[in-house]
Amino acid sequence: MKLLLYSLVCFSFFANAQAPAKRIVLRNANVIDIKTGKVLSGTSLVIESKRISALGKNIKMQTGDSVVDATGKYVIPGLWDMHTHAFGKYEMAFPLLLANGVTGIRNMHTTAENPMQLLASIRKSLNDKTILGPRLVANGQIVDGEPAYWPATYIVHDAAEARIAVDTLIRSGGDFIKVYSNLSRDAYFAIADECKKRDFPFEGHVPFSITVEEAAMAGQKSIEHFTGLINASTAIEKELMQEEVKAMRSQSDSIEDITFRHIIAAQDGQKRTEVCRILAGRKVWQCPTLVVNEIGFDTLVINDPLVKKYMPASVYKSTLDMIKTITTESEAFFEISSKMSKLRFLLLQEMNKEGVPLLAGTDVGNPGLLYGFSLHQELALYVKTGLTPLQALQTATINPAKFFSWEKDLGTVEKGKFADLVLLDANPLIDIENTKKIFAVVANGRYLGRQSLDSLLAEVAVLARKN
Ligand SMILES: [Zn+2]
Repeated sequence: MKLLLYSLVCFSFFANAQAPAKRIVLRNANVIDIKTGKVLSGTSLVIESKRISALGKNIKMQTGDSVVDATGKYVIPGLWDMHTHAFGKYEMAFPLLLANGVTGIRNMHTTAENPMQLLASIRKSLNDKTILGPRLVANGQIVDGEPAYWPATYIVHDAAEARIAVDTLIRSGGDFIKVYSNLSRDAYFAIADECKKRDFPFEGHVPFSITVEEAAMAGQKSIEHFTGLINASTAIEKELMQEEVKAMRSQSDSIEDITFRHIIAAQDGQKRTEVCRILAGRKVWQCPTLVVNEIGFDTLVINDPLVKKYMPASVYKSTLDMIKTITTESEAFFEISSKMSKLRFLLLQEMNKEGVPLLAGTDVGNPGLLYGFSLHQELALYVKTGLTPLQALQTATINPAKFFSWEKDLGTVEKGKFADLVLLDANPLIDIENTKKIFAVVANGRYLGRQSLDSLLAEVAVLARKN
């Protein structure tokens, strides 16, 4: 393991250089102002001590500068995947993320045996620079009631246990609390109260026992995968929640369940608008993770050459299992799936119209998804839904910076900010697919040119066959 991680470091521009350049100059680039969509052509950037120290048309070179000719390239801020599960195979996940321009992640849970210990050790390795990776915000483990969905969950049964969970997870180094679907009302409101007292964020699923409005009023900072929202877009949200709890208790997880038919039949455009207005008013962030439903469950995903090459063998196996299950499903299953998918698209359109704050996230770690690559698919899905390419890019750049209150340091390409950047061969504002045409990535001031990125990918391709 040590050797491998060390070799990852060696692929970087800096580690290969005899003596690290004092400054890196990206000369004559098109810099995209991610707030307005304005393209600042003929702009040069200076990177010094991890930050953008200068930016403009007349940058004076200094002896010892390491100069990159960025003529014809488009510079955007480094991307964030705001919903990952990347710790299980981080030695593959991190290089794949970086190679795809993902310089920051919010990791939402790990099924590893000692999640908080693993989080601490990954943080230490990143800080000590024994591994390369994106900026990391992570909870370590989710908090759920019983039955819990995932291994390594922190299970709580009542309010008292929920308060202890918040205290324990904060002290173990979690950056936020992630609430999950089976929390009881008492436990959920105790978490909300405990977090409010400590001014500490709680994020995650809207539990089956809680309405979306209750979650918004309780101060939940983000909602993942639109949980609860398709129910809330009806006049019978509470009845549907009860049906879901019943289905969950009987361990029936078939999508053909009567519940889904009810949800689809009861959709109400007026209610959808109302709930979006509540979310916009309370500034409850939404992380749609469309790709996990749209592509993660597509049986054709297994034929994707990128999947064959870069998917860890363990995820590849779970993808094959998922495909096996899906291919035995009835026509009714596919009919309901496609209706649910349309409802998610409708929700996203309405949210965008009503000004609900959005975060790009994938839920990668799940079957069918690929670290880094899937974020580009997620952004393309937003554009397919009706967001402009600029709005889609904002969900992965300036919006995460706002979400974390890190706008002073991250989220745009401006003087003084951390140098987390992606250099593209073509303009992503014209075609969102251009985010895939990566010329170079700058991660925390470290320049990774195309050759270094390809080396990272090649290393993962070898590992993927073994893991
Ligand atoms: Zn997830």
